[in-house]
Amino acid sequence: MLSCKEASRLVSQSQDRRLGWRERMALRLHLAVCDACREFSRQMAWLRQALRHFALRAEQDETVRLPSEAAERIRRALHGHD
Ligand SMILES: [Zn+2]
Repeated sequence: MLSCKEASRLVSQSQDRRLGWRERMALRLHLAVCDACREFSRQMAWLRQALRHFALRAEQDETVRLPSEAAERIRRALHGHD
């Protein structure tokens, strides 16, 4: 049986790498009986989703910024120096 410390470490690691089946089984077993770690796991999943939304929005902002950069490039090209 995993300790809560080991379980929370696996939860964090599962965000970055694919857990082995042994780790997944151990973690699933722990989450089935431990409310605190289940809650932690839920929050990590939420955080990950929030970060993904944030990254997506940053990307969209980038595309909003792009046209002015493109315009600047065109302006420079028209004036003949680059
Ligand atoms: Zn626990």
